[in-house]
Amino acid sequence: MRTSMLSKLESYVDALRTIIYIHYFDFDKIDSLISEISDEVSVYEFNNADGYVDFKTKLSKGDYTLEQFLKFLDEPGDEPSFIVLKDVHHLLEEPVIVARLKSIAAKNMHHEDFHCTVFIVSSKLVIPTELSPYITLLDVLLPSFEEIDDMIRKFADAQQIEVEEDVRKELVLSFKGLNEFEITQILNLAYQAGGVINAEDKELVLQEKEQMIKKSGMLEIVNFKEDLHDIGGLENLKEWLKKKSKIFKHLDKALSFGVDMPKGVLIVGMPGCGKSLAAKATAKLFEVPLLRLDIGKLFGKYVGESEENMRRALKIAEAVSPCILWVDEIEKAFSGVGDGGGGNSVTTRLFGNFLTWMQDKESTVFVVATANDISKLPPEFLRKGRFDELFAVDLPHAEERRNIFEIHLKRRKQFNREIDTIRLIQNSEGFSGADIEAVVKETIENAFIENKPKITTEDLVKVLKETKSISVSLKDKIVEMRASMKRMDISAASQNSSD
Ligand code: ATP
Repeated sequence: MRTSMLSKLESYVDALRTIIYIHYFDFDKIDSLISEISDEVSVYEFNNADGYVDFKTKLSKGDYTLEQFLKFLDEPGDEPSFIVLKDVHHLLEEPVIVARLKSIAAKNMHHEDFHCTVFIVSSKLVIPTELSPYITLLDVLLPSFEEIDDMIRKFADAQQIEVEEDVRKELVLSFKGLNEFEITQILNLAYQAGGVINAEDKELVLQEKEQMIKKSGMLEIVNFKEDLHDIGGLENLKEWLKKKSKIFKHLDKALSFGVDMPKGVLIVGMPGCGKSLAAKATAKLFEVPLLRLDIGKLFGKYVGESEENMRRALKIAEAVSPCILWVDEIEKAFSGVGDGGGGNSVTTRLFGNFLTWMQDKESTVFVVATANDISKLPPEFLRKGRFDELFAVDLPHAEERRNIFEIHLKRRKQFNREIDTIRLIQNSEGFSGADIEAVVKETIENAFIENKPKITTEDLVKVLKETKSISVSLKDKIVEMRASMKRMDISAASQNSSD
């Protein structure tokens, strides 16, 4: 990792990039990289904690503000210089600082005797719009499999312990996606806890990954208990998911047999009809964690921040993989993209990044995207190659409604043979799954309050008649949604109805 970062950094300096932004937390590591490329160069450091310091000794060089420090260095000189600014992201928006950095950048371009490269090192990415043309972002790569393997070997040598080859191989796989610092921390922790490194330490890695997700603020681990049996109807979708799960669970064999890596599924359709339920059931079926991505939380106020957030979120998902990445209400995040100027450019770029990632994805992150309103989705999204399949969810037909009634009555231990499901079907035309669940809940609650020993068909029908179904409350919307799903010719999630 160090060598690839070093050569990248060197190439940016050689290419006379004026401001290089290193979005990284480990300042010692960056110091050693800068030292390696600064043989003939004077290095000046300003850090948030101590101000202007000697780059090597870190001793203070005087009482300077960042503005004074930059002004002092903004003079043409004979020798090339490096200015290293650490953790000053909170000052980067101040107009005087922006002006100073712009001045240094401009002199670099226009004065022959001024050669100065500015390195901004920070764990937070802040790129003010005015500085964005001068800034090059250094992409810090995560360690590769070989590099992780090397780190474990070196750690074992240093501690004079033996790590068996198969344990090392397993750890390498689970460490993937973590950075050098996190890997070293876990190795230390594992070693201090037991004096050895063994396969059980994978648990520590999982905990670390969970931390990553929580700290990211953009992803959430969803806890749930639903499986495919909790979904009434949607048989086509369920069958398809079962097939994909067979591939996903035997990926090694499937890929070497020539099967393509599963990418994901887009489920569109009526509200309250089981789309979120399907995302959860997929995770249960595939036996992997479910991560929900909140695209709204990706948007940041600085140039490039939203794209960087998206990249980070996807990297974290890859680090946690195999997993299901659930992108809920995707049309809300990407509406207006590509509609001839209506969409904002950050959204369009984010959308582009997401599509490219989907297209090129080789990781075991299976995307389940759910959407209500397909007409708001950009057409590129629906093209084959992005998702493995697109499914349309309509309001449940008679047989499906019967299933949904049974599921919710059984879940609440109120299903009995005397309940006439035909009458329930007849009285629930146009109801969504969520509507049916609400009816069941209310009926049971009423029966309890009225001290009835059990509920009857009559009780359910009474509540059904009093309930305004989604087809009534969202009448026009439903007609519109149905028409747009038909236009797009997407596979139906349900099997043909017999009613
Ligand atoms: P939205 O688009 O509003 O997010 P959704 O399609 O994702 O809706 P869900 O969250 O899956 O809807 O459904 C809401 C609730 O309604 C579920 O928790 C479930 O209890 C019930 N429900 C909906 N559809 C079904 C179904 N097909 N089978 C069983 N229960 C269902």
